[in-house]
Amino acid sequence: MIRALRMMATCHWSARRIQRYLDSDPAALLDPDEIQRLEAHLAECEKCKAVAAEYRQIDSALSRWAARRMPDPRSVTHMHEVVDRLVRGELR
Ligand SMILES: [Zn+2]
Repeated sequence: MIRALRMMATCHWSARRIQRYLDSDPAALLDPDEIQRLEAHLAECEKCKAVAAEYRQIDSALSRWAARRMPDPRSVTHMHEVVDRLVRGELR
């Protein structure tokens, strides 16, 4: 029970960082401790691994799309918001 709660708390913590981790946004970089903790969690948590894979798919779809036309930063932001809401369970 304690272990499950701790895992849930870590999932919540990770969900808020996965996007920053994958984007490698220089303005919002994770510190090395956070990266280490996140990578350790991704290695043992199927749920967060799936979330990270989803982000990667969306990002590669967006960059393929952006290669064909000028990217609209608002669409990219909107897509990230949709994924954020999916992650938090507000959609579906
Ligand atoms: Zn997790």
